Formats: sequence, structure tokens, C-alpha cells
Amino acid sequence: MHINDAVFLEDLCPKFRLRQWRKSIHKFTGKSCIYCGKQSESIDHVIPRSQGGLSTTENCVPACLSCNGDKSDKNALYWYRRQKFYDPRRAMAIRAWLEGDLRLAIRLLQWANPNFQVKNKNYMKDESEYKAA
Ligand SMILES: [Zn+2]
Repeated sequence: MHINDAVFLEDLCPKFRLRQWRKSIHKFTGKSCIYCGKQSESIDHVIPRSQGGLSTTENCVPACLSCNGDKSDKNALYWYRRQKFYDPRRAMAIRAWLEGDLRLAIRLLQWANPNFQVKNKNYMKDESEYKAA
């Protein structure tokens, strides 16, 4: 598949683009919840939409259903601080993610969890692709 075809297809079909984008978010952390490290099954808005948070890569993190549901529409950083599984390295990772520094965020997550594996080694390529979007 040529890259031009992909762009063309995404322009024609926004749903396809959205699905690809959601997939790419999970890929960044190797499908692990940014808060607790369990399997990520959903996308969580760090700054809730009710508080003006946007559906951008910077504001959307992979989260398990339990964290996503419990956090609900609270501010992620405040909520996370009160959790039993709080880890300052993960808090820093969330902050870096919010600032759009996914490379730093992923490095911090790796530090917080030695078993952490990014399954897609080309994630930096993905990052630049989705930054342009
Ligand atoms: Zn979780």
C-alpha cells in the first residue's frame, strides 16, 4: 500500500481514520493502561471533555476500563494521586504525554514497569504521522 492511498482512504472515511488513531494510542504503551499498567481497553481523556479537554493524542491516553470508569470526569492528575497504585514515574509520564512528549512519556512508563514492552518498534514513526493530523 502506498502512503498516498492511505491518506486518500482516511480522507474519504473519517471512521477509518478514528479507528487507526485509537489503535495508535494503544500501541504507544504496548496496550497497557497508563495509570495502573493493566491491559488498556479504552481511551481516556486526561482533561475531561466536560472541562474542555480535546480529543487529541496529547489529551488521550490508553486506560483500562476500571481506571477509566473510576476516574470518570475528574482531572486525571488529581485523581491519579489518590490511587493505591500511584507511581510518581507514571504521573510524570502522564504529564509528558499531555505536553505532547510521547517519547519521554514512554521512557518513563518503561522505567515504572520493567516488563513494559512496546510491541510496535516503529512507534516514533507513528508519532510523527499523528502529530501532523
Ligand atoms: Zn488502569
